[in-house]
Amino acid sequence: MTDDLKPCPFCGGGITTIEGGGQTWRGVNGYSDPQFYHLRHFGKLSETDDFPRCFVEFRCRTEAEAIAAWNTRADTTTWNAAIRAAAEAMVAIGADRPLTEETLLALLKEEKE
Ligand SMILES: [Zn+2]
Repeated sequence: MTDDLKPCPFCGGGITTIEGGGQTWRGVNGYSDPQFYHLRHFGKLSETDDFPRCFVEFRCRTEAEAIAAWNTRADTTTWNAAIRAAAEAMVAIGADRPLTEETLLALLKEEKE
């Protein structure tokens, strides 16, 4: 079912796995069905990264929910355009302000006005 996963919008690749967890031993009946599904993603943000810096990890009740949650994130075109606009705005002001969430939101607000 991991074939149904869309590529990561941040690193574009990496490794994404979904594993069942929380099974209990029921003796002669073996293990119970998984109680949850754990999605983990690791990817590199640049070719020079020695370690994966792109992490996503969450749990869902079913594997289908985990796939749906992974596949229904923000549209990457809009997201990438917003990041690019913020980066260009940072360069335009000389990047003398620290890059914080507040700075980015202020820059995006200025962009709209
Ligand atoms: Zn990624």
